[in-house]
Order: sequence, then structure tokens, then C-alpha cells
Amino acid sequence: MKIIMLGAPGAGKGTQAEMICEKYNLPHVSTGDIFRANIKNGTDLGKEAKQYMDKGQLVPDELTVRILLDRVAKEDCKNGYVLDGFPRTIPQAEVLDQELTKLGDKVDFAINVDVPDENIINRMGGRRACVTCGATYHVQFAPPAKEGICDKCGSKLILRDDDKPETVKNRLDVYHKQTQPLIEYYSKKGVLKEVDGTVSMNEVFESIVSILK
Ligand code: ADP
Ligand code: ADP
Ligand code: ZN
Repeated sequence: MKIIMLGAPGAGKGTQAEMICEKYNLPHVSTGDIFRANIKNGTDLGKEAKQYMDKGQLVPDELTVRILLDRVAKEDCKNGYVLDGFPRTIPQAEVLDQELTKLGDKVDFAINVDVPDENIINRMGGRRACVTCGATYHVQFAPPAKEGICDKCGSKLILRDDDKPETVKNRLDVYHKQTQPLIEYYSKKGVLKEVDGTVSMNEVFESIVSILK
């Protein structure tokens, strides 16, 4: 099963991707996580990506597509995967389709987690991310057992630089211009599924599970 998570930054794509992956035993492929791991390790890819991420802009398609295709070519992706944060532009979606077509394959579901901009601004300020494993929390809606500490690995939780309000606004603008057109793109392909992302995490997940059944 090949699933794409669509939605604005902070809509809950990562949260839902994690839950889907656990239930269906699929790998969670997040381009944002791959970039952040590279930044942390000081790689050239990380240095390049950081310049864009810090401004709330998209990393160029060429670079992003290359790292995504490398990732999904790995053995663990053979039986499917959940893409979280990719594609974010029409050209990225087109390359993915071309590559899947070559393999006689296709995207099964593009799930759009729908959350209005007003809710996003509130959500992002409360998001906390683990510096080591990338796990995501929310100070109000998904707090860790011990404040500031990751439940999964015990590392420190931080507010991501790009989750500060100035950058969130840019990211939303970029989302509307460059990413939102994907909703129509996947609708035309007949694989789009819409879920209301404003309800609780578990309720969003229930809607997704009923779609995947
Ligand atoms: P969020 O979870 O809030 O949607 P991500 O972790 O997915 O954010 O992405 C963080 C940043 O990484 C983006 O703002 C962008 O700069 C970069 N990025 C991630 N995925 C892509 C992509 N598919 N294309 C271009 N840039 C990307
Ligand atoms: P995305 O990957 O789309 O950027 P995340 O999954 O990281 O979004 O969620 C953004 C923030 O909102 C996180 O702090 C997360 O814990 C929280 N969150 C996710 N889903 C919900 C929900 N349904 N209700 C309230 N908060 C949520
Ligand atoms: Zn952790």
C-alpha cells in the first residue's frame, strides 16, 4: 500500500502517518525528517536544505526528489510506505508517478488532512520535537510524560526554528501556492480522500482507518 499524506504544515500529517505505519506495519518516509537528520549530522545535503528550511521555503525539487527516490528504493519500502511531506509540488508528484509507472505501480491513497489556517497557527506554537528521534509532541494536545523530555528516547524536546510564528506564516503562503494544487492533481487521479483534521488525533485516525479498510 502506497499512501501520501497531504495537508498544510502542522495539519497532523506526521502524527497520522506514525499511527498508520504502526497499525499497517509500513515505513514512515518524511522528507522533513530526512533533511533534519542531515542538518544534525552536518552533511552537505543538510547545509543546502537548511538555507531554505530556515526561511520557510521549499527545498528545490531536484534535490528533494533525489533523496526521496533513494529512500523508497530501499528494501523496507518494497511492500509500500507512507509519504509524509512529499510531494509538495506538482513537479514532485509527476516524478513520483513516472517512477511508479515504470515499476507497474501507483499511489493508492492521497489523504488530505484538512485544517484551516487559523487552527494551524495555534498548533505550531505548541509543537515540540525530539532532537534525537524526531518524535512530535504538543504542549497541550499531546504532552510527553515528563515536560521537555522525549517519551521514546529520553532526549530533549525543542520548538523547531521553523515553527516560530514568522516562519509559519511563510510556510502557509508557500503551502497555498505550491502544495495545495496537489489536492486537485490527486482528485483527478481518483485517489484523493479528505479527512477533517480539526478533531482529536484519535478521531482523525478513525476516519483514516475507515478509508483504508
Ligand atoms: P511539517 O511537518 O510542518 O509539514 P516538514 O518536516 O514536512 O514540515 O518540512 C519541513 C521543511 O522541510 C519544509 O518547510 C521544507 O523547507 C522542507 N521540505 C520537506 N519536505 C519537502 C518537499 N517535499 N519539498 C521541498 N521541501 C521540503
Ligand atoms: P504535520 O506533520 O502536518 O506538520 P504534526 O503531526 O507534526 O503535523 O502536528 C502538528 C502539531 O499539532 C504537533 O504538535 C501535534 O502533536 C499536534 N497535533 C496533531 N494532530 C492534532 C489534532 N488532531 N489535534 C490537536 N493537535 C494535533
Ligand atoms: Zn526522542
